[in-house]
Amino acid sequence: MCGKNPGRPGNGYPVYDKPHSFFHSGAMYDCMIKVAINGYGTIGKRVADAVAAQKDMKVIGVSKTRPNAEAFVAKQRGYPLYIADISKKPAFEKAGLKIAGSVEDMCKAADVVVDATPGKVGATNKSLYEKLGVRALWQGGEEHELAGFSFNSSCNYKDAIGRQFVRVVSCNTTGLCRIINEIDKEYGVAHVHAIMVRRGSDPGEIKKGPIDAIVLDPVGVPSHHGPDVLSVLPHISITTMAMIVPTTMMHMHAIQMTTKKAVTQERVIELINAHPRLGLIKKTAGIKSTAELKEFAMDLGRQRSDLWENCIFEESIYANRNELCFFQAIHQEADVVVENIDAIRAMMGGEKDAAKSVAATNAALNFKTIQNNH
Ligand code: NAD
Repeated sequence: MCGKNPGRPGNGYPVYDKPHSFFHSGAMYDCMIKVAINGYGTIGKRVADAVAAQKDMKVIGVSKTRPNAEAFVAKQRGYPLYIADISKKPAFEKAGLKIAGSVEDMCKAADVVVDATPGKVGATNKSLYEKLGVRALWQGGEEHELAGFSFNSSCNYKDAIGRQFVRVVSCNTTGLCRIINEIDKEYGVAHVHAIMVRRGSDPGEIKKGPIDAIVLDPVGVPSHHGPDVLSVLPHISITTMAMIVPTTMMHMHAIQMTTKKAVTQERVIELINAHPRLGLIKKTAGIKSTAELKEFAMDLGRQRSDLWENCIFEESIYANRNELCFFQAIHQEADVVVENIDAIRAMMGGEKDAAKSVAATNAALNFKTIQNNH
């Protein structure tokens, strides 16, 4: 079984529920999950590095549309480079980039394809994944209906086990789902009201704005985030509003929850401290901005200064009877990366326990949530 794809509908392997052997073998991880990353950009390059760090996974290829700096990084990392449009092969080779084949060749060789192409482009790849019968997971820029299942490892890992298609929800939705689910398990959530102050662009996106405006996104209420949370936690009552501001670092959420049972600040802090993907920015750190947070992550030596956890500000946690309020910062480029890794494991069916997958993912990245560092 090792080295072969354990299950491809359409290729005569109706075995999505059959566990991959790597977690169950006597020798640790004798069988690596072969992962292809289609779209090596902001998310794709991070997922590739996170896959490469796992003991049970390997990167079998990444895809680019044009030769650029990221393509040279892929080469330096040793990831085989594939291209969507094979007619561009001479342009890559002229730049000194060896091409292993087409995106279709790459997908054929994979157990799972992580589609990290730009939003709405991913949908156009579905027919290829169906034709090849390969597992694929998309990002939050695609609609829920494309995969028919939206994933967050803290909330619904078990429901992803053995699936062919999964969508990892967006950065903001990931951050919302993690904390809402945790509070809901402890107190019951009657209603959530969340305001998202969103970064205008990622740091490398030089053509996006705004430069000097606060843009309501959208003007109407709710923003898409509330309905998106429901794709993971359908029983939650939530209203969201969003605006975009001229920053590239992170998003900031102002969250207010009404709980079914009385809530205390001490217990909420305990819950955050015990959660592998919730970080607490302690008052003693003196941090009150996304800029200082990113500086902290850099100084901690995090790769790409990535913050994979929700960054919840301890001092902002206000609990009064059935009301809970707090601020949390979300690093848009990073929080979904660890979720992609867990989604891969769930889809392959070898690890049935969400907590074990999360622990393995975090350990491989040497990721300890931020409260342990101050
Ligand atoms: P990006 O533009 O940074 O990267 C996309 C990559 O895909 C680029 O390298 C591009 O060259 C490549 N590409 C384009 N068309 C392709 C094709 N047809 N075949 C193969 N590769 C192709 O985009 P991103 O920010 O990484 O976003 C990817 C997905 O992740 C989107 O669904 C987005 O909504 C989602 N997402 C983005 C963020 C974020 O903050 N950047 C956060 C969470 C989720």
